[in-house]
Amino acid sequence: MPHRPKTPCAHPGCPKLVPYGQKYCEVHAREHSHDRRTAAERGYDRRWQKARAWYLRRHPWCVRCKAEGRLTPATVVDHIKPHRGDPELFWDEKNWQPLCKSCHDKKTMTEDRNVEYKY
Ligand SMILES: [Zn+2]
Ligand SMILES: [Zn+2]
Repeated sequence: MPHRPKTPCAHPGCPKLVPYGQKYCEVHAREHSHDRRTAAERGYDRRWQKARAWYLRRHPWCVRCKAEGRLTPATVVDHIKPHRGDPELFWDEKNWQPLCKSCHDKKTMTEDRNVEYKY
């Protein structure tokens, strides 16, 4: 089998030679896939922080407390239907509700857990 020449790792300043067709050496392949993931996560977080702040400005009170006649500032935008990573459900404002921290914790303790058993 003919051997292709090895190519240097694409990481700046890394002198390691890697098999043809591979971009990074073992160490840097791991590092760069990690970079990509956190960069995406950072962008996503920023977008969500903004959407959340904007939503809470228009919906400042916890809906559960309000239903019980209490006015508690909402600090969490909760997904009524668990999004389970589905971006359409995640970004659908109709699926959001403002909750305070304690109501949100109560909800995740009960409803969200039940949903998991249903499927
Ligand atoms: Zn390298
Ligand atoms: Zn509440």
